[in-house]
Formats: sequence, structure tokens, C-alpha cells
Amino acid sequence: MPTQPNTALKESDPEVWNIIEKERMRQREGIELIASENFTSMAVMDALGSCMTNKYSEGMPGHRYYGGNEFIDQMELLCVKRALEVFHVDPQEWGVNVQPYSGSPANFAVYTALLQPHDRIMGLALASGGHLTHGHYTPKKRISATSIYFESLPYHVSNETGLLDFDEIEKMALLFRPKMIVTGASAYPRDWNFAKFREIADKVGALLLADIAHVSGLVASGLHSSPFPHCDIVTTTTHKSLRGPRSGMIFYRKGARPALPDGTPGGVYAFEEAINMAVFPALQGGPHNHQIAALATALSEAAKPEFKTYAQQVVANCKHLAKALTDKGYKLATDGTDNHLVLWDLRPLGLTGSKMETLLDKAHITLNKNSVHGDVSAMTPGAIRIGTPAMTTRGLVEKDFDEVAELLHRGIQIAIEIQSTSGKKLVDFLAALDNHPKVLELRADAEAFSRKYFMPGREVWGC
Ligand code: PLP
Repeated sequence: MPTQPNTALKESDPEVWNIIEKERMRQREGIELIASENFTSMAVMDALGSCMTNKYSEGMPGHRYYGGNEFIDQMELLCVKRALEVFHVDPQEWGVNVQPYSGSPANFAVYTALLQPHDRIMGLALASGGHLTHGHYTPKKRISATSIYFESLPYHVSNETGLLDFDEIEKMALLFRPKMIVTGASAYPRDWNFAKFREIADKVGALLLADIAHVSGLVASGLHSSPFPHCDIVTTTTHKSLRGPRSGMIFYRKGARPALPDGTPGGVYAFEEAINMAVFPALQGGPHNHQIAALATALSEAAKPEFKTYAQQVVANCKHLAKALTDKGYKLATDGTDNHLVLWDLRPLGLTGSKMETLLDKAHITLNKNSVHGDVSAMTPGAIRIGTPAMTTRGLVEKDFDEVAELLHRGIQIAIEIQSTSGKKLVDFLAALDNHPKVLELRADAEAFSRKYFMPGREVWGC
């Protein structure tokens, strides 16, 4: 019997179809609070599931190593144009490579392009909310490839305030003299002062990279400081607050470079070729053209006034949630938020991030454990990170986040009650969670709450 390439997934592979269907229901019936996730539109999903996935197109538009790329070229050029428009940058001054498979490969491509092996780099420490790719290592092991191939000295947020400590960052930079300073984070609830970083970078002659993976939807909407006036390179993922497919982009300066602070003429930026060559052929092969098509679609959505309204609601919801939690007496890192996420410090309650993440997972409320300033061990993070982009896509506004705060509060009270009998050891706490009637009741209420809201995608699979 020949294979039937046109048989629908449900019939051709019910095993795979079933798992996808279960995941679809998990997403739809739960409360999604992971700060780096979102629900992308049906149009983006359509592009992702399109014939663009079939095509090889190594190289750049107009210069490919394979034939048959006329429409692939059209799509990539459209995506580039839209990317520059969405971030309001002048195509004479900025270019963008839209081929990175995701955020981590985008960052590594930047390092590969602009640094030599063992060059020095400074990024925000993982424990302070930075990303692995900004140079993470432990006392025993270089963990991220960034710290394996380059010399990394992470900077930290202040132990007292949880805020970036610019005096300390400047002192470190003057001593370490990095070739590149990386700004941006995975878990920092406040805006970034890119101008201040530029000042520090200029004092030591460092390149300045902004990784806006988390906040790119807010930057595009003018709700977060823009790194573009101050940075040399800007990277981003496209699936977080920007609400696109999983992918990555690298923006680089081009054209005339301003004179250096000491008056030396700046010449021209030489990033374009180095970045393009780092993405392919140094690190990647053929671009994922279905992702690029889906990204082009997401960028056109992000350019619409409705997206700005959405992004405003993301921030309003997050500030509202922060207030609702602090009104209940809880402690948030930096006492609040400017963006799409809050870091809830559980240490005053005698709880850990791991316990709350697991308990809430069982109640179908999804978020993640996170370290918080002052944590002594990265193995037992003292906080949970909560983000509003995904549930805002489903239509939640401030008053709905009062209910979310109430559900989270119930989760905390249940955790305190369970821990008072199970004791503090994680294994004992987890054992006591199983089929706990109050956790089951919380789950039923969380699911009933979630069912009230719209969910992007098709009711009948494909998602
Ligand atoms: N940069 C930051 C700040 C991130 O938060 C993330 C992911 O969470 C990445 C880069 C990496 O993105 P990806 O997981 O798509 O490789």
C-alpha cells in the first residue's frame, strides 16, 4: 500500500494527533502564566503549517545555494521590511537577519560574528534574571556555550533592592574591560536604562547588545524603552510578548558610525556581513521558511493599533496583579513591575518556588519557579515568575486578574497548610499534594475560570 500523504493527521497518525489534542486542551482549560509564553494567532499557525516548510534556501535573498527560491526570497524580504517597520527603525541605519531558528541561536550568532574566542563579555547573571546565553557558568562548570567559548563575568542586581546596580556594573566593566556588554533579561520586572549602559560601554570601548526577547512586544508598542537609539545590536525571540511563532531576529546597525568619544572618526559599521555569515554558514543551515512566513504574519499583526491596545493591557494587567498581590500582604521583587511580569518572593512565607510551581501545576495554573535577589542557592529558587501576555491574549482585563490573584492566594494558603503537616522537605511536600482535596477543588475552579475566555486557534485540530 503506498503512503497516503494527503491523509489528515487524525487518521494517519492517531497517536500523535491524540497527544497534540491533549496539549491543546491543556492550554485551553488552564491558566497560562508563564511569562515567556503566548498564544499565537490562527493566521500565524496557518503559515507555520504551510508548504514553506518544504523548501531549502541556504544563503540570503537573491544569493541562495539552491534553485526555486523566488517566493522564499519574496517572503524573507517582506519579513525584513515588516521587522524594521514594527520597531520603527530606519532601513538606512539598521538591518535585520530573520533567519535565526530562535533566541539562543540568535545570541550565539552575534557572539560568533563580533567576538573572537575568549573575548570578554558581561551579561546579567542567571540568578539575577539574565538568560543562559548571556554567559552562565557555575563555580564548577561552564554551562552555556557563551561561557565555554568566551570569558564571561556576569553582573548582578542589588541584593537589597533587586534593581540593576549601575555603580557596581561600571566598576566591574572598568576592571574586566569586556568586548561586549549584554543587556536584557528573562526575569527582570523593571524597564532598562539603555542610555546608562551605553555610557558604561563607551568608557571601556565595548559593543552593546540588547536582548529584548521578553519585552519585544512592549518595545514595538512604545511601552518599554527602546534599545535602538543606544545599542549596536538588538536580538529578540518572536514568540513571547511579540506573539509570533518560535523564532529569532538579529538587528544590526549599518551605515556611518559616529565618532568615538575621544574624537576618533567612527568609519562605517561592519556588522551586516559578519552577522549574516555567522547565521549561515557558520552556525545554521537552511532557514526555516515556515517560521519566517509566520513571523512576517505576526509582524503585520504587531503593526496594527489592536496590538498596541493588547500590549497596553498586558502591562495594565501585570501592574494590577502586582497590586492585588501586594494588597494581600505578599512581597514582590522590586515591589512591583513596569512590564509583563512579576517575581513573587515566597521566602517570607517559608515556601519555595519549586513547591509552588508543582502545586499550581496540579491545579492547572502554569508558571515557573525563579531565583530572586538574595537567594543563597540556585537549586532552591525562592520565587515564582508570573507573566500576563498569554492570558491577556485570551481577553483578560484587570478585574479578571483580581480573580487570578485570588486563585493564586488560595494556592499559597493550601501550600502553607500542607507544609505545616508534611514538613519542609520537598519530597514529603510533593507526596502530600497528590489528590489533595483542596488542590483538586482549586483545579476545578481554575478550569471553570479559564473556560470563560476566548482561545485563539481552531476548535478542530490543527490547534
Ligand atoms: N534571551 C532571553 C532574554 C530569553 O528569555 C530567552 C528565552 O527564554 C532566550 C534569549 C532564548 O530563546 P529561545 O528559548 O528561543 O532559544
